[in-house]
Amino acid sequence: MPMKNLVVIFCAFFTSFLVAQQTDYVDFERVEAMLVFNQLKADTTQFNSYNIKFKIVKATDSIYLDAVDMTFKDVVLDRSEVKFLNDGKKLIIFGDFKKGEDYDLSFLFAASPKKAMYFVGRQNEGRNQIWTQGQGKYTSNWLPSIDDVNDKIEFDLKFKVPKDYQVVSNGVLTSKSENEGLVLWEYDMQKTMSSYLVAVTIGEYAVKSKTSKSGIPLEYYYYPEDSLKVEPTYRYSKEMFDYLEDEIGFAYPWQNYKQVPVHDFLYSGMENTSLTIFSDAFVIDSIAFNDKNYVNVNAHELAHQWFGDLVTAKSGEHHWLQEGFATYYALLAERKIFGDDYFYFKLLESVLDLSRQDLTGNGTSLLDPKASSLTFYQRGALVLHVLKDKVGDRVFKQAVKNYLEKHQFETVETSDFISEVERLYGRSLTSFVNFWIVNKAFPYEEAFEILKRQSVFINEYAMVDCEAKSSKCAEYLKYYVSDEAKIKVISQVPELVTSDTFKNSLKVRQAIAMHLTKIPEHLKEDYESLLKDKSYITIEKALYNLWDNYPEERPKYLSKTREVIGFSDKNVRLLWIVLNLNTPFYDTDNKYELFNELVGYTSEKHNVDLRISAFHYLDLMKSCNEECQSNLEKAKTHHNWRMVKFAKELSKKLEKNKN
Ligand SMILES: [Zn+2]
Repeated sequence: MPMKNLVVIFCAFFTSFLVAQQTDYVDFERVEAMLVFNQLKADTTQFNSYNIKFKIVKATDSIYLDAVDMTFKDVVLDRSEVKFLNDGKKLIIFGDFKKGEDYDLSFLFAASPKKAMYFVGRQNEGRNQIWTQGQGKYTSNWLPSIDDVNDKIEFDLKFKVPKDYQVVSNGVLTSKSENEGLVLWEYDMQKTMSSYLVAVTIGEYAVKSKTSKSGIPLEYYYYPEDSLKVEPTYRYSKEMFDYLEDEIGFAYPWQNYKQVPVHDFLYSGMENTSLTIFSDAFVIDSIAFNDKNYVNVNAHELAHQWFGDLVTAKSGEHHWLQEGFATYYALLAERKIFGDDYFYFKLLESVLDLSRQDLTGNGTSLLDPKASSLTFYQRGALVLHVLKDKVGDRVFKQAVKNYLEKHQFETVETSDFISEVERLYGRSLTSFVNFWIVNKAFPYEEAFEILKRQSVFINEYAMVDCEAKSSKCAEYLKYYVSDEAKIKVISQVPELVTSDTFKNSLKVRQAIAMHLTKIPEHLKEDYESLLKDKSYITIEKALYNLWDNYPEERPKYLSKTREVIGFSDKNVRLLWIVLNLNTPFYDTDNKYELFNELVGYTSEKHNVDLRISAFHYLDLMKSCNEECQSNLEKAKTHHNWRMVKFAKELSKKLEKNKN
């Protein structure tokens, strides 16, 4: 036993030694791999082919690839068999690697990824899909690669899949050919990227294509049955693409741009190089567009194609160079579509959120690798906005362009960006950097003052305040102030709502539905008109409040909303079922069926949001029956962490109640 222990210690030391050194002595240049999926499920027995070319920068006796839980065979270096070690995390290749020499390594590998590649829909009737998520999960779980962002590689991937499925991966599809029931899809990249940006989606899709002003092919993927949702889902995509290319001043760096929705995605979206994967909860109709559209995520992931994919933060400390930039440029794209007031209001919301974060003691420096998303995204965006205000639009824009040109296909640090700005600005930005970026405290008062100086609208919004009720408050709702200011008044003093307030926009009417929960008799008719608004949030809130305020009218409200489904989580339908079940004497023949419909929504074949909502209602009604509980048990092993967290918490609560 002692001997064995020694070996383990040696290996651990050896591996960590490698971690610190690898990028200094080897430059991986190009990967060509072919992955075979005979079915849309994980297959540990299927061997895939792999070739990687690399150059030695500094002589060494070993190199490695990150490769989690894989098996290897036919490992060949420059056409000769070679000594290798597979420690379950890495494939280590031993040899006499000489400085300046090029090498060519080939092998076959089999993988059984537990994360980073997800096989969705195989145990149930849901849609079969394979999709990947490399950031935060490591591509090396499904493809031998480099976990360190600092080695950028050209990845050319090929996939063999059953013929009914579409494959979308990084780069351009150069060829598609059928052989023995499988179709071979060959993708080609021309430039390099960090391994976390390698991606693939495999599933049943149709595609709509456009071309950007600059000639880049844009592809919008969708499920074949969703053709009517393509327009609202992808609304403004091309406009934003053209705008960002122009605003950033640096041509889109990849061959094409593809966007693919996937089922029960881990996040809103992920900016894989030339291939954004996003949650199919954003696949929406034109009513849902008003409340829950893809525009912001769409612009954010697109901006990452430059900020993150083209220039990549060297380490967690500089993460804001990705998220802050993506958030800010997404806002600029939205400003182009939704106008200045929208833009400034979003910035103001960020200032308020950041001030709250500081007041609760959770604020950090922007350079803290453990900073919150709020800090990386919103503080990062505000820093850019304030910097632009300080140095002027022209200097800012040119500096961003220079920064991208100088560091393209490389990794970057905060100083790489700041020094480009300083060079054009002609003065040191050290105190700016300390105040806005390095300091733990976020200077929210200064940020607020800048927004007030820049925007009359923000000034007015700040002035309108009914926290301490004044005689002016009723006036605000009558006369012209912005919708946002009216919404603020309604949220603070809902009793001020009059019949005239209902004549406002969709958003103001939504605020009435959200905040005026006790409905005065003289507003009943106006309130009922909310049930017809083009907003599933408004309908949901109004239906509940009317049902609650006017018990004798319940059948009427239920009949009016019988056909409404809502978002992909069926928010209106679920509420409708629950209210129906709690309205005795209405629709009595149907109640058993409706209850089963509700329980059915907890099953694996439905999306995570819908399931969580159905479980939630069943818990509220204390009616999580055997089927519901069995579905809850299964939900604990779902690939999506939100589902798992919810299922574990609810299960614990049900257990506690039982005892
Ligand atoms: Zn992002």
